Formats: sequence, structure tokens, C-alpha cells
Amino acid sequence: MGLSKTIWTNPTEYLRTEAPENPVLFFAPTVVQANARRFIDGFPGMVTYAVKSNPGEEMIENLAAAGVRGYDCASAFEIDLIRRLAPDAAIHYNNPVRSRAEIAHAVARGVKSYSVDSRTELTKLIELVPAEGTEISVRFKLPVAGAAYNFGAKFGATEELAAELLKVVAAAGFVPSLTFHPGTQCTDPHAWESYIREAARIAADAGVTIARLNVGGGFPSHRMQAVLPDLEAIFALIDRVATEAFGENRPLLVCEPGRALCGDAFTLAARVKAVRDGDHVFLNDGVYGTLTELPLIGVIDRIQVVDAEGTPRKGKLKPRIVFGPTCDSVDRLPGEIALPAGLAEGDYLIWHGMGSYSVVTNSRFNGFGDLQMATVLSLKV
Ligand SMILES: *Cc1c(COP(=O)(O)O)cnc(C)c1O
Repeated sequence: MGLSKTIWTNPTEYLRTEAPENPVLFFAPTVVQANARRFIDGFPGMVTYAVKSNPGEEMIENLAAAGVRGYDCASAFEIDLIRRLAPDAAIHYNNPVRSRAEIAHAVARGVKSYSVDSRTELTKLIELVPAEGTEISVRFKLPVAGAAYNFGAKFGATEELAAELLKVVAAAGFVPSLTFHPGTQCTDPHAWESYIREAARIAADAGVTIARLNVGGGFPSHRMQAVLPDLEAIFALIDRVATEAFGENRPLLVCEPGRALCGDAFTLAARVKAVRDGDHVFLNDGVYGTLTELPLIGVIDRIQVVDAEGTPRKGKLKPRIVFGPTCDSVDRLPGEIALPAGLAEGDYLIWHGMGSYSVVTNSRFNGFGDLQMATVLSLKV
């Protein structure tokens, strides 16, 4: 994989010229820059980028150029990537479980913000990280019953534990903050509301005035044609509820979107390898490739089909079962996907909104996954 230096007009120009056999992800720097501006102009606080959603160098460079000054990192690799590509940016090391060697690595790279959700990991941080000017954010979660979006219970302290940890953080001389992650692809602004109110209760219970509240990622990207993400409504709700909940102790706000910054900036072209006996569609990309997320959070319906010459296939749609290229029977896209009835071998399925959790989870299972990347001026087919 590698980004060629040529800039193409749009995906179809590339497909017509190169007739690629392997899956291609088209990247539009203009879209990343526009997404970043939308957050920087609209979000009532600091905008950081969750590197895990797409750690491509072209992503980071464009975000930095657009003015994103903070990055949420989860590993030593991500910390080094940001130090190299955006040397002056703030790094928030928000993976609440780290080995001692990883903590030492972060300290050596000047990382000044860490999250935590347990007593054992807080003890490690207090031992290994100099307190002066360093923030520790306690990550909390809501009880499952009350949560609008609960995406697994891996991280987050309960309300009681969070208040206890926050007191310890403050007493140890660190800058005390709180953080949460409401889930991913949250199209309903209210996903944030109960978390922000809970944060105010935790700070009050602990008797600690927090410096910052990090409201996580979870901002939606455009996956369904009919559901345009209303980021401004989410920003407005966060702003209003933060003031209502904290009053004059309102903390500075931070957000750490992943998919909302990178998702719409990439479009996938996957080739039809076969329409087996006129029925099942086999693609050169699947759930072990860039389409990993589809079985987890649902299909993207922003699909266009072009033939080998790049001409759009119009006409009636027909629901199809679609498989990826590997020999694993799990490698099937969920449900049935409506595709033009005239779909033929050699056509390309063009999938918009494919920039998040795709490049980075693409595997070489069964020898497939030789993903190509191409930069385009526009993603319009
Ligand atoms: C993954 C992650 C994010 C980004 O989530 P998106 O849903 O992609 O916005 C933000 N913060 C933390 C702590 C994460 O683990």
C-alpha cells in the first residue's frame, strides 16, 4: 500500500485509466480539511483527532494543516507518529491501560495528558509520571441500563469509583479532568447529555473542580444516504448542557472525533470478481479487508456502481447476497444489498464514507487485501 504522487480528478478517471484488480481507496484532502474546519468552527472547545480511526500520514498531515492541534493516541506507535508529523501538537494518551514501558515511553516524548479508569493503573501513573502540569482524566461510564449507546463495557469507572479516583488525582498534584466515550456513530445528540450531567455529579461528589471535560468521539460520519449527520445540533447540545450541568464551574471542553473527521474523506472501489450463476456477488474486498465494520455497525448504503469503462449502471435495483474474496464463510456482507439488476463481472462497487476503521483494519488474510490508495480532487463519481 502506498499513496501515489499523482492526483486524479475523481475515482472514475482512475478506474478507466488503471482498471485496478485490487481494491482502491480514494482520498480527498479537501474533504478532510472541510471536516476539520467544521469541528474547529463549531465545537465549543478543543478539537483532537482519535488517531486509531485512520492513522494514515496523509490524514494527519491534512488535519494538522487545517489546524487540528491535539491527537488522542492509544499506543507508543501512535505517539511517535504524531511527534513526527505534528511535532508541536498536544498528545492525549487516552488508553486507560498501559504497561510501565509504555508509560515511560510517553513521559520521554513529553506527553502531558493521560486517562485512567482504575486504582491499579492510577497508582502506576502516579509512580511514573511527573505531576507538575500533567493532566489525568478519569474515564467514567454510565450504568448499562441508562446508556443510550453502550458499545461494550471495556473501559470506564462507575460513578463512585470515578469520584474516588478524581480525589486521588487532585491530591497527587495532577490537573484533574473527566472523560467519557458515548459509543460510536451516535446520530442522536442526546447520547452526550446524560454523560455530561453525570460528569458534573462525579465532580461534585468528589469535591473537585475539574479543569477539562473530554466528551469523547462518537460523532457520526455519513453512512446512510437518508441520514445526514447534524454535527451542529450535537455541538449546540453539548454547549448548552455543559453550562446547565456545571454552572460557573464549567470546565473547558475537549472532543476527540475519529470517524467524523476521516470517514467521508475516503471512497472505496471494490471490483466484482464474479456474479456466480447470475446470483451471488463476489467482490475483491470483504470483511477481512476494508469492509470489517459492516457486520459490526451496519451497512453503508452510499453505493454507486460503474462498469469497467467507468460508466454508471442505472436501472432497477435487485437485492443481492455479497461475499468477500476469502475462503472463510464469515466473509459475507450483512443482509442483502440492493445493486443494479444489470450488475456484471468487472464492474466496480463504489462505496462512499469508507475512511474510518478500514485502512487500518485491512488484513492480508488468504493473500487478499493488497489495497491501493489514490488521491483525488473530488470523490464525485
Ligand atoms: C475510538 C475512540 C474515539 C473515536 O471514536 P469515533 O467513534 O471514531 O469518533 C475517541 N476516543 C476514544 C477514547 C476512543 O477509544
